[in-house]
Amino acid sequence: MKNFCVIGCPIEHSKSPALHEAGFVEMDIDATFEAVEVQPEDLASWVRDELPNYQGVAVTLPHKESIRELLPAETEAASAIGAVNTIYREKDGTFIGTNTDGLGALKALLTLGTSLEGKSVLILGAGGASRAVTFALSKSGADVWVWNRTADKARALAQDMNVNFLEDWSVVPPENIDIVINTTSVGLRKWESLLPEDFWRPTHIAFDIVYEPLETRFLSDAEAAGAQVITGDHMLTYQALEQFRIWHGVELEAEVMNAAFFER
Ligand code: NAP
Repeated sequence: MKNFCVIGCPIEHSKSPALHEAGFVEMDIDATFEAVEVQPEDLASWVRDELPNYQGVAVTLPHKESIRELLPAETEAASAIGAVNTIYREKDGTFIGTNTDGLGALKALLTLGTSLEGKSVLILGAGGASRAVTFALSKSGADVWVWNRTADKARALAQDMNVNFLEDWSVVPPENIDIVINTTSVGLRKWESLLPEDFWRPTHIAFDIVYEPLETRFLSDAEAAGAQVITGDHMLTYQALEQFRIWHGVELEAEVMNAAFFER
């Protein structure tokens, strides 16, 4: 039996156990997946004493950045994003930190079946999630622009990821943008959006990574204008599908985790 877990603080609302357990049932894998609360001051001792008991670990807030220095190695994605959300073991037992959040966002976008090559993408936000999303988009062939309330953070992120910085999103005509991604926490449990209703066009694709609620004001306004929309649960399940692939070496149907997301 192989053991997996997600660590964070708080952790009781994590969807990871439900998503991965659904995968175990579907693929007939003999494994456990638990949610473990680890206080920030206990992270180093947890990594030293408990990590060896697991085959793989999902890492969530507030440990995504602080765990990096406690791991012996990390992937290029984890280094570029500056955060680890997944730990796996090499064949020789070495623990490696990686990050599946950006790929999750990219795969969520690709569900619409449109190529990103040459598409103009406006990313709102320059926090932790934006780093992952911007990293993945920077390698997709899209023309990426980053805006953030605190402009210096967007400027630094754009420079790190070799994409474009936008000081004021309103100077760009909406018609010149194909895809808008909200990576800020605006809309989280509040009916508000960074963009005005009249911004939206039927040609737009709107992707909100906020998933509480799934139908945010950002997406509601976009949909009312005839735009295509992608809800935040897709990024969550696609990043978990990528974890599943890394840990078990198998591709799981997205539908298995999508269904599990709504079960609990
Ligand atoms: P974070 O690092 O704290 O970043 C927060 C971002 O939101 C910053 O860009 C911040 O701008 C911006 N922001 C906050 N309040 C704002 C306001 N009133 N006006 C304009 N901008 C504002 O948080 P995070 O970890 O990136 O997470 C952001 C959101 O993504 C959360 O809602 C989280 O639940 C969600 N998320 C979803 C997934 C998924 O799988 N779907 C994964 C990760 C995160 P400043 O820099 O100016 O403060």
